[in-house]
Amino acid sequence: MATTSCDVAIVGAGLGGCFLALLLGRRGRNVVVIEQGPSVPSAGADFLKPPGLRVLARHGLADLVGRHGLRRDVIRYYHDGDPIQECRFPDGGFLIRPYRELVELIYTSCAMEGVGFWFDASIADIAIGAGPAGERVEELTLADGRRLRAAVVIGADGTKSAVREALGIPQETIPYERLLMRVATVPLSASVAQLNRLYFSSEGWLTYLYPISRDQARVFVGLPPEDDKEIFQDGIPALLDELKKFVTDSSDAFNFLQPATWQRIKVSSMRVDAYHKGNAALLGSAAFACHPMTGMGMSYTLHDAEILADVICAADGDPELLDRLLHARYEPRREAHRRLIDYGDALAATFRDRTAYLAAFRPDLHVHGQAAAPGSLPAPPPAPLPA
Ligand SMILES: Cc1cc2nc3c(=O)[nH]c(=O)nc-3n(C[C@H](O)[C@H](O)[C@H](O)COP(=O)(O)OP(=O)(O)OC[C@H]3O[C@@H](n4cnc5c(N)ncnc54)[C@H](O)[C@@H]3O)c2cc1C
Repeated sequence: MATTSCDVAIVGAGLGGCFLALLLGRRGRNVVVIEQGPSVPSAGADFLKPPGLRVLARHGLADLVGRHGLRRDVIRYYHDGDPIQECRFPDGGFLIRPYRELVELIYTSCAMEGVGFWFDASIADIAIGAGPAGERVEELTLADGRRLRAAVVIGADGTKSAVREALGIPQETIPYERLLMRVATVPLSASVAQLNRLYFSSEGWLTYLYPISRDQARVFVGLPPEDDKEIFQDGIPALLDELKKFVTDSSDAFNFLQPATWQRIKVSSMRVDAYHKGNAALLGSAAFACHPMTGMGMSYTLHDAEILADVICAADGDPELLDRLLHARYEPRREAHRRLIDYGDALAATFRDRTAYLAAFRPDLHVHGQAAAPGSLPAPPPAPLPA
């Protein structure tokens, strides 16, 4: 079977892969995206925070993406039923837009730039060879025999990245085992339409309720793993008994919870030892994973894609320059991600304890997406609420 050549091969058509493909396509690069699924991924995150919205705005996409999304600028937090703080997002707040819709919009924009997408394409082999800047990916072979050669290869293929594995880059995955997460999509109730509310309890539970459209809402329930079987497999009525103990201002949603289909979600943090090797680099969930409570994974990924697009275009096919630029401009992102992952870990360790949670909460990372520079004025703290 014939071999296809391109400037950049991107493995994975999620948010990171599609956005990078769009940026490169707009700058005249010949890009092929390889996706194992039949289309762009159907499920994923819901919140796009201000830093991610700013990235999209820099590329003329904010209005397009925001058009059918919901804007929110406050999250109210509760502990054992008492409101404890409100986190405010200035300048238009954050966007709620289900992941599939977000990625589909970017994917549709890619078509106008001539980006090639190969769906249902599973990778059989990633050939690594020696190049002027050390090891490099020579060729990708698909299960159906197609071969792809690219000057640059991006692993945007999620937490189990085949590209990362082929490059031999070690990773460390740490599951958040103290909290098992369940999610359901339910009809929207008045309290959820009014405000995003996130409840914690000193018994180790959490519940987060928010709208995802004009008539639907998402409900996350986190609970100690030892309670899961009793609550979700043997008898859902027990769920309401537990929630009534600490979910105080959203009781109009209770009627919708019992018949809902509850999906189990695995949540882990992941760190890797390097973000690139030779002509290949990792992007998005292939490179890092932080606790979803930070709500920042997509924002960081969009910014990372911007940096990668600049580096790839600046290197302009020179492998040694590419390696140097990836080292100088992309590898430092690992440090920013490390701070975000550490922050997510700190939050996740305090869910039971309101004082510890409020002390761990960082508006700079939570709202603005970056650690305040040393010596700068601190971001305003969230508004405390009377218990
Ligand atoms: C429960 C949860 C909630 C989250 N909530 C938020 C949130 O509210 N806000 C936020 O900003 N972030 C959130 N995140 C993080 C966010 O989901 C990630 O940052 C984002 O999905 C990264 O996008 P990606 O393109 O790197 O990876 P993915 O979205 O995982 O896409 C990877 C793509 O690669 C494809 N693929 C995998 N292997 C191969 C292969 N071998 N060959 C070809 N294709 C392959 C997959 O099919 C998929 O399409 C959350 C994460 C979790 C786990």
